[in-house]
Parts: sequence; C-alpha cells; structure tokens
Amino acid sequence: MVDIPHGSAGTPEAVHVISDPTSGLEGVIVLHSTRRGPAAGGCRLWRYESRATMTDDALRLAEGMAYKNALADLPLGGGKAVINLPEGDVDRRALFRAFGRAVAELDGSYVTAEDVGTTIADMAAAREETRHVAGLAPVAGRPGGDPSPWTARGVFLSMREAARRRFGTGLDDLTVAVQGLGNVGSALCALLHEAGARLIVAEPRPGVAAAIACRYGAEIMSRDAILDARCDVFAPCALGGVIDARATRRLQAKLVCGGANNVLATAQDGDRLADRGVLYAPDYVVNAGGIINVAAEYLGWSASEAAARVEATGQRLAAVLDHAERHGLAPHRGADALARERLVAPAPGRACEAA
Ligand code: NAD
Repeated sequence: MVDIPHGSAGTPEAVHVISDPTSGLEGVIVLHSTRRGPAAGGCRLWRYESRATMTDDALRLAEGMAYKNALADLPLGGGKAVINLPEGDVDRRALFRAFGRAVAELDGSYVTAEDVGTTIADMAAAREETRHVAGLAPVAGRPGGDPSPWTARGVFLSMREAARRRFGTGLDDLTVAVQGLGNVGSALCALLHEAGARLIVAEPRPGVAAAIACRYGAEIMSRDAILDARCDVFAPCALGGVIDARATRRLQAKLVCGGANNVLATAQDGDRLADRGVLYAPDYVVNAGGIINVAAEYLGWSASEAAARVEATGQRLAAVLDHAERHGLAPHRGADALARERLVAPAPGRACEAA
C-alpha cells in the first residue's frame, strides 16, 4: 500500500493506493474524513481509463459519503474504495481477499460494503481477511441485507415533508413522476400508492413498467418524455446527472425528490431549479436510509434503532432546508454547508475526547 499525503482543509485525510499483482488488485481507498468515526463507504468495481480517473472518482465519492453520513447523524466519517476491473478472467474471491487485506491494514479507519459492481459474495471474501466489512448476508431479525426498502422509505418520508413545505398538502393531492423502477423506485411506488398519490412512471424494462402500471394504476411514459410529465413531483430513481440545464427548463414539477445519487449534473443546475421555484430535496439527505441500515449492521444496532433513524429522515431534511433558508442558500448548497460544519465539529460522543 502506498500512501499519498494530503492535508490542507477540504481535502481528504488520506489516499491509499492498493495493489496486489497476484490477484490483479489495483485500486484506491480514500479516507475523506474520520473525525466523526471510521470512514464508511462502499467499494466500487469499474473499468477505469487511468489511475487518475480512478482516483478522481474515489475522491469525489468519498467526499459525498462524508457529507451523507454526517447529515444522517451517523457516528461515521466518509470514505470510498475503487478497484479497477482487471482484464480477462478474474478470480473474484482472490481479488476481494486481497482487497480485504488492504482494508485490514487500515485498522478500522475504513469500513467497506458493496457499491456499483460488487456483491455480497465479494464482501464475504473481504470478510475472510478483515472484520471492517458490512453488506454481508442478512441475519434474521438484525439490520443488514438489501438496503433498498430503507432507502425508499427515507425518500418517501422526505417527499412527504417537502410536499408539505412546497405545496402545503399531503401526497394524496399530488402526482409523482418516478424515473426508474429498480429496487428503490418500485418500493417507492408502493409507498406512494398507499399514500394516495397518482403515479407516472418510466422504465426501460417494459414488463416491469407494465407490472407497476397494473398494480398501482400508474401511467407509463417513455424514458425521455418523463422529464416533461405534467406532475407535481419528479422522483429520479435511476441515474445520476439527470437534472442538467436542459432538464431544468423542461421540468413541470415544483418538487424534485428521489433516490438516485448525484441527481444534479452541476451545482449551477440546483441554482437554476431554485430560481424557477422548484424545491430540490438534496439527494444524499433523502436517500440515506440504505447507509443507515449498513451502519446499523456494522455498529451492531438493533433493527428498531435502525428503523427509528430511517423514520427521522423527514425531520433531518426539514433541518437541512431550514438551515439553507436561514443562510439564504439553495437547498443543495445549504446541505453542503451544513455537512462541512459537521465535519469540522466534534461528533456526538467524541466531544469529551476533543475537550
Ligand atoms: P436499480 O439498478 O435496481 O434500479 C435502477 C432502475 O433504473 C432500473 O430498473 C433501470 O432499468 C432503470 N433505468 C435505467 N436507465 C433509465 C432511464 N433512462 N429512465 C428510466 N429508468 C431507467 O438501482 P437501485 O438500487 O434502485 O438504485 C437507484 C438509484 O438510487 C441509483 O442512482 C443508486 O445509486 C441510488 N441509491 C440506491 C440506494 C439503495 O439502497 N439501493 C441507496 C442510495 C442511493
């Protein structure tokens, strides 16, 4: 493991280059912040063009995790691992055991889990080498397993809070356009239908869209047209970067709240939404249900403790929106500002150490 020194304010605490020629492991672990607790964030397996693009991705993702964990009130910092997908046949167990040894060397300052391209089996292989792994096969009655229902629940509660603020109504008066009917989007549709919302959906898998339309009376639109849907709320639950300059001009919705990560293509697109009177519920605040479930698994919390923390997602969003309003900031900028404040303040439970 090679350590690249980092130090100035706003930069990550550490960047560890990891490699193991025998298994083909080549990657980076970034610890953006450990001030609130171990840097937690998943491990992404992806084919990168160069070490520079791989490192840039890890830096960006680790900072995002630090902000998400801080605003979810978790006693965790933020970090991320990325591994370059090796060419040819891959012995995944060997690859992730080597990754687990790299995580073990960090001695608990980094906690890993799944992300894009990695699976429960990969985490089980890493777990053979280190205990600083979450996202393992669920144990009945304990937090863990598929985080998507928790993510969807947090998005739903956030949408209810944001709708109250933006429209002064409950969700039963509103039409919600859901983009993407995967694990999060489908679970969100069920909750919205139960709450009495009308649904418009878009999903590239026709059978999945048809099943949701049939079950919940949803209208189906094409993937592109959903951005123009006549709706009150737009819920991105597929890709990142969907709200770009063009989308901000097309959207009919007055509220954007969904499960996808990195919804805004740029921060300026968030400013454009605010200028047009569209309330944007910051993605990493509303979609934290999954990381709360992962944190509960790693920290040994009970299922009821994890559920109570997910149920508080709407209140946490309210606090973020209040903070933004008080400081005259658009919500995405207010969220970032509040997260940065929390990253320099002593975390709950660490105040005595700092005193
Ligand atoms: P998923 O892969 O199960 O679902 C994504 C869905 O979007 C798929 O059904 C896919 O067919 C569909 N899709 C792809 N392109 C589309 C397009 N152009 N228009 C409409 N639909 C499209 O993923 P997921 O677990 O449901 O996660 C969805 C998003 O939420 C991702 O951005 C993910 O990073 C984010 N997220 C997920 C969790 C979680 O707990 N799963 C937690 C936090 C954030």
